[in-house]
Amino acid sequence: MSGAGWNVVRCSACSTCHGHRKVGRFCPHCGQKLPEDAEIVASVATAAELRIEVALANTPEELRDMLRNRLEQNHTLFHQEETISFTGLPKLLHDATDENGVLTVKSLQPVLDKNRNSLEVQDLIDMAESQGLLVRLNSDCWQLLE
Ligand SMILES: [Zn+2]
Repeated sequence: MSGAGWNVVRCSACSTCHGHRKVGRFCPHCGQKLPEDAEIVASVATAAELRIEVALANTPEELRDMLRNRLEQNHTLFHQEETISFTGLPKLLHDATDENGVLTVKSLQPVLDKNRNSLEVQDLIDMAESQGLLVRLNSDCWQLLE
């Protein structure tokens, strides 16, 4: 095994697989110390391959072929984040405000639902606050800045 590679190691205590540069010393899932001769399920060259192999190793055998196809077609599956485009954010917020430009979690939720947005209301508000679109008025009330 070259130093550049990664191993997919199975923890003998919890049977969960995870990636390591070598064998690793502790299982990141259950915290058990890994034995020197921990089972190495696969060895791969890159972190991207490692993600796939770890995901596969933790998947029931009958589902692996399907998962492998999906993963290999779409390496970015793992990087997908459910973000809302910054251009769409002000409109969403605007739709949720009352005539005074004030919105609440309650008023924002149906707007999110309508837009089939899977973000949590609170996450959206945090995002908007961090971008200076909203100012908190009290614990459940924000003023939209325009
Ligand atoms: Zn474990």
